[in-house]
Amino acid sequence: MTEYVAAIDQGTTSTRCILFNHAGRVVSSACQEHRQILPRAGWVEHSAQEIWSNTLEVVAAALAKAAAHNEVTTSDIVAVGISNQRETTVVWDRATGEPIYHAIVWQDTRTDAICRQLAGGDANRYADRTGLPLATYFAGPKIRWILDNVDGAMARARRGELAFGTIDSWVLWNATGGPDGGLHVTDVTNASRTLLMDLATLSWDEDLCAEIGIPMRILPKIRSSSEVYGPMRTRGVLPGVPIAGILGDQQAATFGQACLEIGEAKNTYGTGNFVLLNTGAKRQRSEHGLLTTVCYQLGSADPVYALEGSIAVTGSLVQWLRDNLGIISSAPEIEALAVSVPDNGGAYFVPAFSGLFAPYWRADARGAIVGLTRFVNRGHLARAVLEATAFQTREVIDAMNADAGVALTSLKVDGGMVANELLMQFQADLLGVPVIRPVVSETTALGAAYAAGLAVGFWSDTEDLRANWAKDKQWDPAMADDERERLYAQWRKAVTRTFDWA
Ligand code: ADP
Repeated sequence: MTEYVAAIDQGTTSTRCILFNHAGRVVSSACQEHRQILPRAGWVEHSAQEIWSNTLEVVAAALAKAAAHNEVTTSDIVAVGISNQRETTVVWDRATGEPIYHAIVWQDTRTDAICRQLAGGDANRYADRTGLPLATYFAGPKIRWILDNVDGAMARARRGELAFGTIDSWVLWNATGGPDGGLHVTDVTNASRTLLMDLATLSWDEDLCAEIGIPMRILPKIRSSSEVYGPMRTRGVLPGVPIAGILGDQQAATFGQACLEIGEAKNTYGTGNFVLLNTGAKRQRSEHGLLTTVCYQLGSADPVYALEGSIAVTGSLVQWLRDNLGIISSAPEIEALAVSVPDNGGAYFVPAFSGLFAPYWRADARGAIVGLTRFVNRGHLARAVLEATAFQTREVIDAMNADAGVALTSLKVDGGMVANELLMQFQADLLGVPVIRPVVSETTALGAAYAAGLAVGFWSDTEDLRANWAKDKQWDPAMADDERERLYAQWRKAVTRTFDWA
């Protein structure tokens, strides 16, 4: 009998379920987008209910497809893993299962005032304990906003009637019974993005919760990333199958890319870009605007940490070009438009739509297109959009090299944008090191599957994961050094034009 692991990949724009076989190859998948709710500038929300019903649908659809092709049944699925958009915050009623407010998405900037007040002039006040700056990105202040702005919520939270979760907790709670005994649990990687967890002890920090104003009764239990949490208890969808892995999406991609040794790094090109460098047992404090975060913890083993460079807007800038300007009608079209010109024509596009994340952490920045002349056309703009992703990646990699004290020698990449050959070549040119794409580009889902499969013994150890990793394509740098540095200097100048705007 052939067995499989099911991964639920609950992302910012869509929810996927992918079934993987023992070789780590995709056997079946299903995907569904959900609404992006944008009530006003800077606010981004999702319907948590829609996300949960989409989750059930994609799991059922992935199973049905596999059943049609390969005669797979529920009894062939040995475990379920969950990866999720991180930091996105849900608060719900434990008795009814109803969220008391939409999920506030990681990109949302409404907590700026809360963060500034908590910072009192020092945004790095909590960095020693949490690895994070006080920024709108993280979950803790989002919880506080909901409790302050929904009638009676703070009192109900204190009475223990409400539950908080990042999306992993929300999905797990619903999948294990919801109001009828659902498990209220999160994993260390997701907990490390709240500003509420102590990175050294891996437990909620009482003082931080008090300062940010979060009643601790609302918080889930923190568990490792790879252990059996409990069985699925949904009608009809994989009943009884153990849920055995949870990783935040970027940590999942790092695990799926088999970045298991100190010094190994990956960059995921999705809605935003996220570079993670495995630093092993060391909680490396960044001096250059990076985050310190939990990379993964396998059962009772010691946690593995990472340095992270988070970039808010990369692929979503391509969507913006499609949806807000209508210059292209689908994301892949941008490549043909960009190759219609030999270079950016002097135009630089800094997509500071949510301020700037790493390495700047400037909430006051807003987007700008600079260097415009009458010469600049749609093709140049398309190029500037793609180049923005590569430039922002270069900034983060430079920061990482400076923090780590050694330079990266190659970069493993994944995510929706790595289909773009022009971008991948430009990225290699700009970094001056090879860029390598694996055969399985669904590394996020694969990482969640690995975490779950390891917990139930489907894969025996991390050597199995390394053996499964295979290269699809490599891009080598071909640009002259002086040209690379000239372009990069122009970019950095463009970035300064976005500061001090909002
Ligand atoms: P997420 O998991 O964050 O939802 P994905 O990894 O699915 O994102 O990547 C989707 C992103 O990639 C979208 O923002 C889309 O604009 C972008 N994208 C997809 N295909 C291409 C392409 N060929 N060229 C450039 N960008 C692309």
